[in-house]
Amino acid sequence: MTVKAQAQGASDISSLWSWAVQSWTTETTADGRIIKVVHEPFALTRNLALIALTMIGGTILVTEKSSASKITPAKLAIMRGQLDEGIGAIIDLLQGYAERNQKFADSVLRGSAELAKASSPDRLRSAIEFLISENQKMLKETEAYQASLRNSRDQISKLRFELAEKQAETQKDTLTSAFNRRYFDAKLANVLADANRRATSISLILADLDHFKSINDEHGHLAGDEVLKMFADQMQKHVRAEDTVARFGGEEFAVILPHANIEAAVAVAEKMRRWLYGNNWKIAGKPQTQKITASFGVAQSRANDTPDELIKRADSCLYASKSSGRNRVTPSHV
Ligand code: GH3
Ligand code: MG
Ligand code: MG
Repeated sequence: MTVKAQAQGASDISSLWSWAVQSWTTETTADGRIIKVVHEPFALTRNLALIALTMIGGTILVTEKSSASKITPAKLAIMRGQLDEGIGAIIDLLQGYAERNQKFADSVLRGSAELAKASSPDRLRSAIEFLISENQKMLKETEAYQASLRNSRDQISKLRFELAEKQAETQKDTLTSAFNRRYFDAKLANVLADANRRATSISLILADLDHFKSINDEHGHLAGDEVLKMFADQMQKHVRAEDTVARFGGEEFAVILPHANIEAAVAVAEKMRRWLYGNNWKIAGKPQTQKITASFGVAQSRANDTPDELIKRADSCLYASKSSGRNRVTPSHV
C-alpha cells in the first residue's frame, strides 16, 4: 500500500474536506492493470476530526449584542440548559464518529496485512478492493456525520447568540441603557479588589441631576425620562471604553474609572458638567428650551478601600456640590 507523507497545513473546512475525499487515487500497476490506492487512511480520520473541531470552535466566536425584551434568571437557566444539550449532542456525534473510526482503522489494518502477504495478483486485487470499499463506507458515514455536526453547530450558534443577548439585557437599565445598579455593584467590587491587589487605585464619579423633580413637574414624567436618557448618553460619550457608566438610582448616575486618578476623574466630570450647562435641552412639542445642570462628587480609592467607603466619600462630595450651589464638581481628599 502507498503511504504518502502529505503535509496538511490548511485548517479551513473546505480544504480539509476536499483533501479527505481525495485520499485515494487511481494508479496503473507494472503489468498495466488499473488499481485504486488508499493514501493515508489515518490522516483522513485526523482531517475529519479537525473538521469537527473547526465547526465547534467557530461557535465560540459568536459576537454579542444587546436588545430590549424582558428576561428572567429562570429563562437564562433554560437557555443555558439548551446550550448544554446542543454541546452534548455534538459530543455524542463525535463519540459515535470516533467509534466508527476505530472500526474503520481495524479494517484498514486487516486490509494492510492482507496486502503485505498477498501472494497472487487476485489476492492483491481483492485486498485493495476491500480497502477501497471500507474507505467508501467511511466517506459516506462521514458525510452524514458532517451534516449532523453542521446542524448542531448552527443550533448552538443561535443559542449562544440569544444567551449573550439576554445576559446583556440583565445588566442594563431599560430606560437609559446604562448599566444597572446590580451590574455596577459587582463591577465596582471587582475593579476595586483588582486595584487593591495591585496596590493601584481607581476613581468613582457620582452625578445627580439638579432640581430634576421640577423638570418632571413642569414638563411631565415622559419629558423627564428623555432627559435621563440624554444624560446617560452624554456620560457614555465622555468616558473611555474601559469606564463603566451606570444608573445608580432615580436621577443619579455613577462612573467607575479603573485607570484614572482623582485629577483625571475630576477632569472627566468637569467636561460632563460643562457640556450639560453649555447645551440647552429642547423640549419635544414645546417652543422653549430648558437649562439642565448636574452636580458631581468624585473620589479616588485608597489602599484596601471597600466599595462602600469609596461610594460614601464620593457621595459626601456630591452632597457638598449640592449644598454649595449645584452645577459643580467636588473632589474628595485622596
Ligand atoms: P436635587 O437638585 O437636590 O437633586 O433635586 P432633585 O429634584 O433632582 O431631587 P429629588 O430627590 O427631590 O427628586 C428626584 C426626582 O427624580 C423625583 C423622581 O420622581 C424623579 N425620578 C426618579 N426616577 C425617575 C425616572 O425614571 N423618570 C423620571 N421622569 N423621573 C424620575
Ligand atoms: Mg437630583
Ligand atoms: Mg437624587
